[in-house]
Amino acid sequence: MTGMDNNNVLTSTQIVIEEALRKLGYGDDMIELLKEPMRLLTVRIPVRMDDGKTRVFIGYRAQHNDAVGPTKGGVRFHPDVNEIEVKALSIWMSLKCGIANLPYGGGKGGIICDPRKMSFRELERLSRGYVRAISQIVGPTKDIPAPDVMTNAQIMAWMMDEYSRIREFDSPGFITGKPLVLGGSLGRESATAKGVAIMIDEAMSKKGIAVAGSRVVIQGFGNAGSFLAKFMHDAGAKVIAISDVNGALYNEQGLDIEDLMDRRDSFGTVTNLFKDTISNEELLALECDVLVPAAIENQITASNADSIRAKIIVEAANGPTTLEATRMVTDKGILLIPDVLASAGGVIVSYFEWVQNNQGYYWTEAEVDDKLREMMVRGFNNVYELHTLKKVDMRLAAYMVGVRKMAEAVRLRGWV
Ligand code: GLU
Repeated sequence: MTGMDNNNVLTSTQIVIEEALRKLGYGDDMIELLKEPMRLLTVRIPVRMDDGKTRVFIGYRAQHNDAVGPTKGGVRFHPDVNEIEVKALSIWMSLKCGIANLPYGGGKGGIICDPRKMSFRELERLSRGYVRAISQIVGPTKDIPAPDVMTNAQIMAWMMDEYSRIREFDSPGFITGKPLVLGGSLGRESATAKGVAIMIDEAMSKKGIAVAGSRVVIQGFGNAGSFLAKFMHDAGAKVIAISDVNGALYNEQGLDIEDLMDRRDSFGTVTNLFKDTISNEELLALECDVLVPAAIENQITASNADSIRAKIIVEAANGPTTLEATRMVTDKGILLIPDVLASAGGVIVSYFEWVQNNQGYYWTEAEVDDKLREMMVRGFNNVYELHTLKKVDMRLAAYMVGVRKMAEAVRLRGWV
């Protein structure tokens, strides 16, 4: 990702935040406060590598705003992590929490590293080192981390253990996305995908498309992408294409998802096992009912938006469509379900996990699923209603719904 793209991610978010706040009747002071995170911590983490040498990793934690409650959001391990991206991601977390009506503001963290090239023990030392470095500004009632790109339940377990040691008491509510035996919630691992599937249901019913027999294209086969492929397959849809960083697989009759799930590695790589692949660019241009970008930022841009032939785009990744592309696909009549709504399932079940940790009382998977559906559908209806009522595109509508509670909380606290 280039520096310019990174700038785009933050500046385009700021443009929509400003538009949303103005439409809600707020002035320059509120915009000035909410256009950037209130806090950004940069840390240098020394890690003893397996070869005996110490490597210093750079990490971040951004907290957008805590007027509503503690901040919440994942930690990503990726070579492209940078300050601007982490800032934008923390703002998106605020919007997700706002849309889902969770008692949180947004936060996000990241470490510049490539976990695919690190050993298990090196990853453990890095995860623990990160928690030591940020421990002053996080905690179950301050800022609650979770998994994100290339982090998982094992990493959450190490982080929770490190935090509990520092504080000298068991602190399951410090982090979510934990393994079940350490206070994780049933349904958390597949929650983002389940939420996306619910959004696909809602969008399809608005467009009069039946799920059974529909054609779905998914870019990315990580946590969200692979579980979603399975859910859509189980619901009777044909998943005609999936992709990873190396390329894409395409079969008009529908791919064998169970087989692909079995053969992918823990980072979602599977296409390298096949000879007959197409490019990610070709995948995005396939004719289909639903296109789900479930990989990384800036995938649908002004240069390829014209070639998109989906009826619905559901953004499972954070920031996959640029602002200009949003306008272009909306003008083409494509129904776009924006990231801050579509991918809120992860943080919703994280919230359930935190509630269960605080209560010390654990729910069944059916309870989790029912509550997730209820919250996602309510979020969808609020956004869709505003979109039709105020004649604003789905992204602006989602931002308006997402930021209004936070702005109100800021005003009531007397900060602005
Ligand atoms: N990283 C996920 C997201 O971007 C989940 C965050 C959370 O569960 O707190 O929404």
